[in-house]
Amino acid sequence: MTSEELRNIIDRAHYFGLLQKNPHGQLVHAPFSLTPYRLPTALISQLQIHTQWSSLLFWQVAQNFDFLKEMLEPTAKVDEFIRFLVSLISHEKRQDQQLLINRNDFLFERKENGELQPLQVEFNTISASFAHLSERVTSLHQQLQQENILKGSSLLHDAIVGFASGIKDTIENLGWQDAALLMLVQPKERNWFDQMGLFVALCKRGVPVVRASLAEVNEKGKLKNGDLWVGPQRIGIVYFRAGYSPGDFPDEVSCSARRMLEASSAVLVPEASMQLAGTKKIQQVLASSDILREFVPESVADQLKAYFANMFGLEEEVEGRTAREFLEEHAEQYVLKPQREGGGNNVYGAEIRNFLTSLPTSEDRAWVAMRRIEAETTESLLVVKEQAQPYQSISELGIFGLLRAQSGDLRLNMPVGHLVRTKASNVNEGGVVAGFACLNSLISIEK
Ligand code: ADP
Ligand code: MG
Repeated sequence: MTSEELRNIIDRAHYFGLLQKNPHGQLVHAPFSLTPYRLPTALISQLQIHTQWSSLLFWQVAQNFDFLKEMLEPTAKVDEFIRFLVSLISHEKRQDQQLLINRNDFLFERKENGELQPLQVEFNTISASFAHLSERVTSLHQQLQQENILKGSSLLHDAIVGFASGIKDTIENLGWQDAALLMLVQPKERNWFDQMGLFVALCKRGVPVVRASLAEVNEKGKLKNGDLWVGPQRIGIVYFRAGYSPGDFPDEVSCSARRMLEASSAVLVPEASMQLAGTKKIQQVLASSDILREFVPESVADQLKAYFANMFGLEEEVEGRTAREFLEEHAEQYVLKPQREGGGNNVYGAEIRNFLTSLPTSEDRAWVAMRRIEAETTESLLVVKEQAQPYQSISELGIFGLLRAQSGDLRLNMPVGHLVRTKASNVNEGGVVAGFACLNSLISIEK
């Protein structure tokens, strides 16, 4: 590709709003792929169904405070952040309406019989991002396909329309005049464009939106008769694009703002219990026992299990020895994960050995091990910081899901679009804003 051809493509990326802020606050293109990811149509449908079942499972888990507490209390003892979240559920004010916006992430292994085996990486119940930028990269690819610069035809999707209508329906069911959505954000957000997609879609539908950080909520927010007000706006829904990492709670001010949200009449997306249901510890418990049969019908449990990779807690025994001894031998085949979201926290493969020598055994319950998914690699042309380069790459597919419930009854549970992130195969982490992965579109193929 000539530098002029690349320039034309980057200009189109800007035109379609495929943008983020760099660490200096300047607008730059988000990293993107020029090789759409191809998956069989039947597999995509199967993953959409899997996402509905997963939404159901995690929603059911979140209803069961006793289960959450029992599973997470040992972890809470050694992990201050989990301790804080567990402490919130006792004060959580259960709303008549519940709304879950999630993303179910998968990697794909090629089996010996030639079939692709999807494996769930994780189910994100808080701040599931990139719905808007994923639409933007799809539009860019479709334009490049029209111009015959790229081959094929990328799948259209409209996750943002799904989210916005789910939010609008929830607001309308509150029956209040002028109920607003509070979009809770981090003070220095680089992924502002992605958030703006939902912001604009809500404004178009007549839903007022207030953007504020936890510190601003503490300053301008108050409870009146149990209702949350931020400035002159009465808040019907709080949508979290912050609050998923300990860094979001640097002081008592931000913790008390979060407590105020939990105690209010606003519908929280997600409630603390839903956030906790999405922890790696709960994923591990569900993956390593038959307990999920208590939350979903047996046939569904079996389908969900088929996509789980092996997981165990660091405090457990594995094949007749301690998990630490087991990992010492098999480090290369595992990923070690703490109870954190947002990327950059895991320990991969051989690094696990060194890491474990420095980790006190008293902290074992804060970590889970997951079998490393040996994802199939394909060649992709990736554009990062205005440079295009071919890489052997791995693609991760996320399916967004929307679930709405009222008085404990399911009202809506549907898949609403997707995200593809493609990264060089020698890179462990998957974050786009952190510069590890490139946004991509999806093409559905026969086989
Ligand atoms: P986070 O909540 O920080 O996003 P994840 O569990 O999603 O944590 O892990 C971050 C990234 O690491 C994933 O997007 C994926 O690319 C990679 N990863 C996570 N688990 C595995 C695994 N079991 N095998 C291979 N790669 C993994
Ligand atoms: Mg993740």
